Amino acid sequence: MSLIVQKFGGTSVANTERIFNVADIATSAYKEGNQVVVVVSAQGDTTDDLIAKAAEINDRPSKREMDVLLSTGEMISMSLLAMAIQKMGYPVISLTGWQAGVETDINYSEARIRKVTAERIRSELDRNRIVIVAGFQGINKQDDITTLGRGGSDTTAVAIAASLDADLCQIYTDVDGVYTADPRLVPDAHKLSAITYDEMLELASLGAQVLHNRSVEMAKKYNVDLEVISSFTRNPGTKVKEGSNMEKMNVSGVARDNNCARVAIINLPDEPGVAFRVFSLLSKRKINVDIILQSVGQDHHKSITFTIPESCAEEAEKVLRENQENLGFEDLSVNTAVAKVSIVGAGMASNAGVAAKMFEALASAGINIRMISTSEIKISVLINEEDSDKAVKAIHAKFFNV
Ligand code: ASP
Ligand code: MG
Repeated sequence: MSLIVQKFGGTSVANTERIFNVADIATSAYKEGNQVVVVVSAQGDTTDDLIAKAAEINDRPSKREMDVLLSTGEMISMSLLAMAIQKMGYPVISLTGWQAGVETDINYSEARIRKVTAERIRSELDRNRIVIVAGFQGINKQDDITTLGRGGSDTTAVAIAASLDADLCQIYTDVDGVYTADPRLVPDAHKLSAITYDEMLELASLGAQVLHNRSVEMAKKYNVDLEVISSFTRNPGTKVKEGSNMEKMNVSGVARDNNCARVAIINLPDEPGVAFRVFSLLSKRKINVDIILQSVGQDHHKSITFTIPESCAEEAEKVLRENQENLGFEDLSVNTAVAKVSIVGAGMASNAGVAAKMFEALASAGINIRMISTSEIKISVLINEEDSDKAVKAIHAKFFNV
């Protein structure tokens, strides 16, 4: 007998038919003799609709009341699913986040889970019940309802799986796994059977919107085996777990991020403290800097180029211009028509020639590289945004079409 946590996203529980489909998946696992905990998101666009409703009443409601409101979305799903499972004749109980013992810090709307006291879930499982838990919500030390930030139900599922020491945490969603590239862009991209936590984290932060990043970090920390799987096709999905006995692939995927901007600060004085002054101005405004490049100093001057999220471009430009005199640079250019394309793979570090192969693919496609950055398991290039589709296709073809 195994203990399985199954999480279903908003599209998987969007209507009556789909709720019965989820009930069928959960009860099938139960019939096979497993203990089953199900974590649900709010149906379809419910969370967005609730946010819109609140805005009609008050454009600046307190975060505490927002969390009370938003937590109701998941409670609708959990009770409807429990009713469907009852109708199918199985023992079941639904629990809110606080009934399930999901304790968070005090930060309304972006709360972090501190621990899950899973006694109630355990005792319900011992009574042979299927246990349904509302995702995305918990309780803080003031006994107030909190929510975990958008997409947070994945994290609820992983936290519960960790605290119950579950054998598997399945994340059911509307995609059937993690692909070597976005299948809408690259039709011959294929589904990966397994991927490491680190690869998944890189792919997620590079724009492959499959799992909530915090859920993957938590799965890695507590060694929870994850599976991303489609509630519609029910085909085997992609396992996310530690890499030891997995086939070590050079490159497991190509990701692309069009939402970045490149800032070039031209001719700064070449003296100690300059980079510190530039980047502390940005960090004070919580602007995340990614790739950084500094030119070789010449005639007591140097240039610094870096990338930031596109949404921060205006603010970054403003603050740098305001400080032009005291930073002492000559010119500033901000370009939002750039994209970052990356390859990710845990086996990359131990394989020579991966970077050359990527650059060769770009060269053959006639694409100019503006910046390059590398880590143990990732190589990113910055290119013109208009080339990004072509770049992903060319790189994917180079690595995966054998
Ligand atoms: N319902 C919440 C949201 O839409 C949480 C989730 O779906 O995971 O963000
Ligand atoms: Mg989600």
